[in-house]
Amino acid sequence: MQKLFCACAPKAVFERCELQSGLLAKRCAACRGILLALPDYRNWRDRHFSELPAVEPASLPGRETPSRARACPSCGHFMARYRTGNAESFWLDFCPSCELVWLDDGEWETLEQGGLAPYLDVILSEAWQKRVQAQRAVSYRDDLLRVRFGEETLAEIRRIKTWLANRPNRRDILAFLAEP
Ligand SMILES: [Zn+2]
Ligand SMILES: [Zn+2]
Repeated sequence: MQKLFCACAPKAVFERCELQSGLLAKRCAACRGILLALPDYRNWRDRHFSELPAVEPASLPGRETPSRARACPSCGHFMARYRTGNAESFWLDFCPSCELVWLDDGEWETLEQGGLAPYLDVILSEAWQKRVQAQRAVSYRDDLLRVRFGEETLAEIRRIKTWLANRPNRRDILAFLAEP
């Protein structure tokens, strides 16, 4: 790996660290951010997890203010950002050409606590990101509906909607409801 630099300080030094037994990474001595090489991570994961149950995108607690895009500590290009779930606050930064993942201080621990530590590759996949997008679209729509109808009315509308869906004569019912 060539010389690394960190956005936090011009002369930041990276030190070796062990995230878990057998999982080595580099840590910025100044901001405590972690740089993890994806091939090393994959080796570790494959040694420790033979089969991973499928999981759905999950929002993890993150920063109060969303961080901005970050330059790759190795090549200097902007890192791509990946969501673990719907939340605005937790992002993984990844440089595809260097295969490096950046984790802010505490983010690895958050991934572990959220049960997502073995799923780094999965989170970085297009399929996962598409599922997150779909979740976000649903939650955005829910927000709009909540503003439009209010929480209580919306719950009632949903109840009626579910009930209607199972009626064989729902068209008649709807027509009747639409009558003045
Ligand atoms: Zn730093
Ligand atoms: Zn890079």
